[in-house]
Amino acid sequence: MAKALKKIGILTVADLLYYFPFRYEDFSRQTPIDKLEAGRSANVVGQIELIKNKRSWKKKMFVTEALINDGTESLRVIWFNQPYLTQNLKVGDKVSLSGKVDEEFGSPVMFSPIYEKASQTSRYGKVMAAKLIHTQGLVPIYHLTSQVTQKQLRFLIKQATTVVEDLNDWLPYEIKRDLKLLNLAQAINKIHFSKTRIDLQKAKERLAFDELLLLQLQAELIRRQMKASHAQPIKFFEQETKKLVASLPFKLTDAQRQAAWEIIGDLGKDHPMARLLEGDVGSGKTIVAVLAMFNAVLNDKQTALMVPTEILARQHFNSISRLLSDFNIRVGLVTRSQLQISNFSSYARSGHGYARSLAERDEARQFSNPKQILNSNDIVEHSDIIIGTHALIQENVKFKNLALAIIDEQHRFGVEQRAVLIKQSGDDTSPHFLSMTATPIPRSLALALYGDLDLSIISQMPKGRKKIITNIVPEEKRQAAYEFIRAQIKAGRQVFVICPLIDFSDKLGVKSVEEEHKKLDKEVFPDLKIGKLHGRMRAEKKEKIMRKFLENEIKILVSTSVVEVGVDVPNATIMMIEGAERFGLAQIHQFRGRVGRSEHQSYCFLFTNAESENALKRLEALTKLDNGFELAKVDLKMRGPGEVYGLEQKGFPELKIATLFDYKLMKLAREQAVKLVNVDASLDRWPALKQKLGEWERKVHLE
Ligand code: ADP
Ligand code: MG
Repeated sequence: MAKALKKIGILTVADLLYYFPFRYEDFSRQTPIDKLEAGRSANVVGQIELIKNKRSWKKKMFVTEALINDGTESLRVIWFNQPYLTQNLKVGDKVSLSGKVDEEFGSPVMFSPIYEKASQTSRYGKVMAAKLIHTQGLVPIYHLTSQVTQKQLRFLIKQATTVVEDLNDWLPYEIKRDLKLLNLAQAINKIHFSKTRIDLQKAKERLAFDELLLLQLQAELIRRQMKASHAQPIKFFEQETKKLVASLPFKLTDAQRQAAWEIIGDLGKDHPMARLLEGDVGSGKTIVAVLAMFNAVLNDKQTALMVPTEILARQHFNSISRLLSDFNIRVGLVTRSQLQISNFSSYARSGHGYARSLAERDEARQFSNPKQILNSNDIVEHSDIIIGTHALIQENVKFKNLALAIIDEQHRFGVEQRAVLIKQSGDDTSPHFLSMTATPIPRSLALALYGDLDLSIISQMPKGRKKIITNIVPEEKRQAAYEFIRAQIKAGRQVFVICPLIDFSDKLGVKSVEEEHKKLDKEVFPDLKIGKLHGRMRAEKKEKIMRKFLENEIKILVSTSVVEVGVDVPNATIMMIEGAERFGLAQIHQFRGRVGRSEHQSYCFLFTNAESENALKRLEALTKLDNGFELAKVDLKMRGPGEVYGLEQKGFPELKIATLFDYKLMKLAREQAVKLVNVDASLDRWPALKQKLGEWERKVHLE
């Protein structure tokens, strides 16, 4: 069994105890047989009146049939292919059965219920009530592999609970007392075997609190550390900043100004800023970050901007280089496949012959010093602003004097990646740190989650943005939609088509990039250039396609969700989404944010063959609401947090029991964490707690 258990991560008794059920079968109500109702689950306790095996030749199987009587009536029970049952269960035994009640010829019957003996006969012939763990109360259901059964695992865990008192209850006594939390042993016992929902609730509360407290303690300790460490103050260059702002093709919104102001205020201090900038798709976060970077550069410091995809890195690189081209600021690009320094001409004049991209590298070498090998460190050494992907933290990049580190689309990064980036200042100070996200998380949640970050919110969209017209398109109007698309392209516009899958799949009706691309290219728009994009393509290829799309050579881009974050192609005005029901509302809202970036009216067409009322209702919300935050709320109600904020979001910690939406508990955990750290930031007063936090951090880190 050890081998099978290892597969599900159970190596020790403690692992068993901490292997929590993912749901419960509610057999808490024992039902008299004469009150059984077909179609419902029930627990029945009675005596075996009759039990026998039959062989059904027709169906080629064993059938075990029994009659159970509880004093009110008899119940017929049938098991299939378990002939050994008759060795274990004998006439006269008292048994407890749980399962769904069926009906046959007007009488209740149970097919293959879970069973256990309700009494045991001791060695001395004494009959004792048995502890029932499979058929009564809230019966735990665990995630399993094929080699372990629920019954086996329950049996093992039940045994392990006999030593549960030996677990070190690390939660300080005062907290348990003040918040009326169960002690650890009780909580672990009850999370597995509860008789009632209330017991289970208490157990969950204690264990959830544990997780949230550790999370909050960690956040609070990081926060203190950051506040205590030194940063290079970045002086505000007011005149120059005004000049840059004046050179923009638009007027900053008040919300952008406010956020920029908060950030610039932080930058002036000699301890590091730690700030989260939250703003809906298209609210204009990038320019706010640019203003901060600009000031860092004027202070003769370096700044880094890390983004989750190569496409986005390239795009930021292009647009930021352009924005700053009048200011003689060198912008570098570092991704696994692209290395480049912009404002190349001014740079070339300074005597170095730097290549524009890997593709052009060899050509460039011919007229530059061949000894100068272009690697990421060259870029970093010679740039003021370095834009890149994970390559920035993976390739052992050394900054000279990194004073400001920014992460865009921060929900795509984990806490550790953030930590690595801010350790890279190049001296003994910490860089100022700014995170940006369009994930619409409520302020209270953001505070709880990123307790170590201050928050700026851009709550307003740039003026003059036209509302993106959003429609659910029924299949019979598909042709009409294609005609509309053709007209738009004729007028010079471009189109995104998003599909849930890359390759053709036999899942009925789920569209794939390959299929749709072929269809549009060969059948629907044979005269137009159609591109495709997905995560399995090589970075250079993706980059080439994006460039062609940006240059309006490709008219329709068929893509997976890789274009979800950040991509900015202002000339695109139609976002067409296939299999829309397969995406979250917040995610579709992100897709939709890819259009409506110019003065042209934009459209979002949602295609779906979902028929459930719920799915349609969800999508309908998109036709009415154009605010990511409101949409997330709708989705939260209809689908729950796991789906909405996606487990793939690396920025969210892994929690076994707690959810990030236990606001109340989260708040309590935060208060307690702050209180503990206030009393003793070393945590030496609570050695068990300190040890636990260390173990937890190591574990989180390893994952
Ligand atoms: P996001 O917050 O989603 O990262 P971006 O920074 O990419 O948004 O900005 C979206 C688009 O809006 C860009 O094309 C940008 O140039 C433009 N933009 C930013 N601020 C304003 C503004 N105040 N007025 C008009 N357009 C703006
Ligand atoms: Mg952005």
